[in-house]
Parts: sequence; structure tokens; C-alpha cells
Amino acid sequence: MSTVNYTEIIFKIKEEYIKHTRVNEDGSVHFTLEIPVAEQVRPHCGARTRKSKGKRPEDVKFGATQHHTVTATYLQRRYKCQECNHTFIEKNPFVCRYLRLSKTNMEYLFRQLGEKVSFTEMAKLSNVSVSTVIRYCSKLAIPKPN
Ligand SMILES: [Zn+2]
Repeated sequence: MSTVNYTEIIFKIKEEYIKHTRVNEDGSVHFTLEIPVAEQVRPHCGARTRKSKGKRPEDVKFGATQHHTVTATYLQRRYKCQECNHTFIEKNPFVCRYLRLSKTNMEYLFRQLGEKVSFTEMAKLSNVSVSTVIRYCSKLAIPKPN
């Protein structure tokens, strides 16, 4: 089984977005991710643009698989709206706005809530701190188990 197919299934990272893959001695994996320039629709005014304004590296935690952590440097592209001159970030499948957790990792984290898993265990499985788990979980209105 190729690494790339595996990656796409587990972490929903498309092959064409992976610029570089580094496998460390401890088995952890680090990707460098970049999405090619594509037409973007600005969320607020609805204008379309292809004018890229450069990239900014964002660290993303994808969690862990078989005790090996998966992290990425996502070179997040910024675009400039030619109508109203606002700068905005590209639409991406990896990470929610302002969060350092990948979307797949968030989903995974929240799935654990239905099970009897401690915050400590959840933190370990998602490669984040316990306080991060508590912070994200406290944002959700989840009915307490009986
Ligand atoms: Zn605009």
C-alpha cells in the first residue's frame, strides 16, 4: 500500500497538495502542504480572484496513527480581492480557521467524546495538550451521559 493513498484515506490530504514528506527516526511524519493557485470566491463580497498575495506557514496537527504523530507545515496562501482590496486566506480542506488542529483530527477528537475516554487519553491520541482538549470540548454543547 502506498503512503500517499493511506494518507489520503486517513487524513484526507490529497497527493497533489503534498510538497514534501519527512519521516523522522521516531516514526513521526511531517508534511509540507501547499495548494496551487486557484480561483477563490471572497466570502464577504462574493468577488472572484486569482491574485495570490503570498503564503504563510501554519503548523497543523493531524493527530497520531499507530503511536506516530502526523504534523504538517501548511503553506497557507493568501489572496487579495481586487474589488475591495481585502486580503483573505484560501479555502482549504485541512484546517479550520484559527485552529491548529486538522479537520480530520477535530472529527476524531469529537468522536472520542461518545466513548469512555479520558481527556488525557484523547489528548494523547490527537497529539495535543490536555488543556486543548478541554478547551475544544467545552465549546461544544454535549449532553452529559446518564
Ligand atoms: Zn471584495
